[in-house]
Amino acid sequence: MRAVVTGGAGFVGSRLCEVLLDGGAEVVCLDNLLTGSLGNLAHLRGRPELRFELCDVTEDLDGGQVRAALRGGVDLVLHLASPASPVDYLEHPLETLDAGSRGTRNALRLADEHGARFVLASTSEIYGDPQVHPQRESYWGNVSTVGPRSVYDEAKRFGEALTAGYRRAHGTDTGIVRIFNTYGPHMRAHDGRVVPTFVRQALAGEQLTVAGDGSQTRSLCYVDDLVEGLLAFARSGHPGPMNLGNPHELTVRQIAEDVITATRSSSSLVQVERPEDDPCLRCPDISLARAELGWEPRVAWETGLARTVAWFRELDRSAA
Ligand code: NAD
Ligand code: UDP
Repeated sequence: MRAVVTGGAGFVGSRLCEVLLDGGAEVVCLDNLLTGSLGNLAHLRGRPELRFELCDVTEDLDGGQVRAALRGGVDLVLHLASPASPVDYLEHPLETLDAGSRGTRNALRLADEHGARFVLASTSEIYGDPQVHPQRESYWGNVSTVGPRSVYDEAKRFGEALTAGYRRAHGTDTGIVRIFNTYGPHMRAHDGRVVPTFVRQALAGEQLTVAGDGSQTRSLCYVDDLVEGLLAFARSGHPGPMNLGNPHELTVRQIAEDVITATRSSSSLVQVERPEDDPCLRCPDISLARAELGWEPRVAWETGLARTVAWFRELDRSAA
């Protein structure tokens, strides 16, 4: 089994590469390190079945290096390359639009040329600020086309349309997964997402920056569960779209309080301004994944949070 993981040096991608390698696959990771890092793959250095190519997937993938890396065929393309945190995609709006559009097109072409299965890492942001709760795959969403988050949301929506169109036009074996908020080791401490931000602040004894009154909700999935779901989806041949996430829904205020408990921090909470268009609710209906893949998350929030805190503590220790 030979897999290409675009965005493989990122938070989810690096764990995906590791699990693929553990399962005996050869992995080619294509990443331009815009928001990822080689540090995320450092523990896999020395595994000969992993090949890293510094490569921007929005550019031609026919170049010599990539072509050489893919000689010998490809069975699976997992397309994760895209900034994912609001702070990152607001800093890189045009790169984000390109990753979802041109990047997805190039990754689709690559899969098609090799007769490989293609999996698009789409997102719950497809649903925008949802008027249906929890969100099922049949809901079409409530997304602004011009608000600050639109560079990510609409790029992913276009990526879904492109993937579906490619399947119709070329018969490519494509699948779309809609990933809900995922957390765990290898997130960047400063990527701005809620879990790494709160953990970093709690460990540093700083106030935890709760946006608005903190009553908005998110449903947080531990990265190992997500990766297991992604690979089950890849094997299934299902076209999607399919939600993957943990339906355990928490308010942001609760997340902050749980982080304080898990870190035994004496930090307090401080209210900061709510970002524009910040969705009020987020919770996946995962009936489809349960029925089609027999998949559901297994790692409880308390367990996943404890592992994440331990990882960030270790990072602080090795930096000291
Ligand atoms: P991340 O930022 O850690 O990883 C993204 C990776 O893509 C990085 O390594 C980055 O360098 C790379 N990349 C970006 N643009 C690229 C380009 N043009 N060419 C090559 N590489 C490029 O983010 P993540 O949380 O690991 O997210 C991975 C994927 O999963 C993304 O597509 C994201 O939209 C999707 N997703 C993640 C979540 C989540 O909660 N983590 C939720 C929904 C969807
Ligand atoms: N959030 C917060 N404080 C922070 C970072 C995030 O209260 O320091 C909130 C954010 O406003 C949102 C939720 O946490 O309501 C999840 O934000 P994140 O950026 O992790 O992901 P999103 O689901 O918005 O893409």
